[in-house]
Amino acid sequence: MDLNTISEVIRRPSARPGADWREGDAWLAGGTWLFSVEQPDLRRLIDLTALRWAPLVPSSAGLEIGATCTIRDVYAFTPPDHWIAGGLFATSCEAFLSSFKVWNAATVGGNICMSLPAGPMITLAVSLEARYELWASDGSVRAVDAADFVTGDHQNILAPGEILRRVHIPARALEKRTAHRRFTLTRLGRSTVFLIGTQTPGTSDLLLTVTAGTTRPVRIAFDAMPDARSLGRRIDAIPADIWFADPNGTPGHRHHLTRHFAEDIRRELMAGSPA
Ligand SMILES: Cc1cc2nc3c(=O)[nH]c(=O)nc-3n(C[C@H](O)[C@H](O)[C@H](O)COP(=O)(O)OP(=O)(O)OC[C@H]3O[C@@H](n4cnc5c(N)ncnc54)[C@H](O)[C@@H]3O)c2cc1C
Repeated sequence: MDLNTISEVIRRPSARPGADWREGDAWLAGGTWLFSVEQPDLRRLIDLTALRWAPLVPSSAGLEIGATCTIRDVYAFTPPDHWIAGGLFATSCEAFLSSFKVWNAATVGGNICMSLPAGPMITLAVSLEARYELWASDGSVRAVDAADFVTGDHQNILAPGEILRRVHIPARALEKRTAHRRFTLTRLGRSTVFLIGTQTPGTSDLLLTVTAGTTRPVRIAFDAMPDARSLGRRIDAIPADIWFADPNGTPGHRHHLTRHFAEDIRRELMAGSPA
């Protein structure tokens, strides 16, 4: 849609944009959300894709994903064989309610910064214990745990003018076993719940990430595989006010599904873990 309040688009920002950030500015990534609704408060768009950040940089330390990497590029990425969690990349892209047009343009950073409950790049990053590099408008840099970034539905910790620059996924998380479950009302619909469990090979630990059913991601860690009752108790301990309500499900429905699928994931990972 035409954004008729925009009077300027910065097509070639400086390599460290943000210094002249002002009210009414917005970072432009794929634009799939920015151009999908009216933006009456915006006056200027600053195009981050012009900065040509490297999309995907694998190394022995893990994987760095530039914030402007598209969903299409994540889907096309072939991880090395020993990154056995690598199947989660395609799974998470497929969790997008979107047409091919959205996949081609939408970026990882845009999805994370939108901070919607059903943001699949958020699920991916939190489950793989990612850290985000954030650039503030005063030139300072901070790194935060992906689990602490989204604070609610369409809310996050970014300060005005701050940029998500890159996502770093550690190699040890990419080497974990995984299991996931997702529920949607229609086959290609928005996620009602999306859960991912990971386990360090050779151990019986469990890291469970609960998203889409809650307004912010919830990560639950166990040093050893819990029994069904202990796992259920931890799901029940998720604060009542963060279960999400929208046309895809009531908070009660989402709580029920999360309990059910968490147990599925527990059983799946337990089946392949050391006795
Ligand atoms: C048909 C359709 C289906 C969709 N399905 C889903 C879905 O299933 N799940 C979902 O979560 N969303 C969905 N969306 C919403 C949106 O398109 C996606 O969240 C998408 O990933 C946003 O990425 P983008 O690069 O297009 O962001 P943009 O639209 O360019 O930006 C989104 C917001 O993030 C900010 N931003 C972007 N990049 C950065 C950065 N690096 N640092 C700081 N701020 C930044 C922008 O200023 C803006 O406020 C859908 C949209 C459409 C039109």
